[in-house]
Amino acid sequence: MKIVLLGAPGAGKGTQAQKLVEEFGVAHISTGDLLRAAVKAQSKLGKQAKEYMDAGKLVPDELVIDLVKERLGQDDAKKGFILDGFPRNTAQAVVLDSELKDMNIDLDAALLVDVKPEVIIKRLSSRRTCRDCGYTATAGVDTCPRCGGEMYQRDDDKPETVQKRLDTYEQQTAPLVEYYAGHGILKKVDGDRPVDEVYVDVKSLLGL
Ligand code: AMP
Repeated sequence: MKIVLLGAPGAGKGTQAQKLVEEFGVAHISTGDLLRAAVKAQSKLGKQAKEYMDAGKLVPDELVIDLVKERLGQDDAKKGFILDGFPRNTAQAVVLDSELKDMNIDLDAALLVDVKPEVIIKRLSSRRTCRDCGYTATAGVDTCPRCGGEMYQRDDDKPETVQKRLDTYEQQTAPLVEYYAGHGILKKVDGDRPVDEVYVDVKSLLGL
């Protein structure tokens, strides 16, 4: 399984990725998680990325691309991978294509988790994320059901940043739907339903 997940922030990409990872043991490559880890570690990359993330903007391509290249080269990605949150614009998609070509890898699918903006705004403002493992749940869950870590509200899930992230998505990421349709590998699932119902369709679309 070698797939790209597309969809607005809060569409449920991470949740569906977590389920695929649990069932099929592939690598979950989330650029948002990798960047948040860098911010937490206060690395040079983390310090550079933070101001963009706080503003709901994309982190510059060169910073993100190196992270993904390194992650794709790790052993666990050989069994398969789910790219979640990458690519985020056409330039990143083109670099990914060329990197995968060099590695002799073909993407199986680009799966769009489709959810209307009104639903996204509601979902993101009630989303809570585990500080330690990145697991997500809705407000009211204070302890991570997966690792026992503290659940918190990401700064960029606060209402003032959510609209900016959605605008960034519409302007820069949504064109990738056409990009992957043009490559003949686009699949689309209605993400505005209970998680398990979406997951049944995800597996069927991916032929799993
Ligand atoms: P996410 O968890 O995927 O919603 O990502 C959180 C934030 O990290 C985004 O709003 C961006 O600022 C940054 N980010 C994540 N992935 C990328 C990417 N592929 N390119 C640029 N910035 C990214």
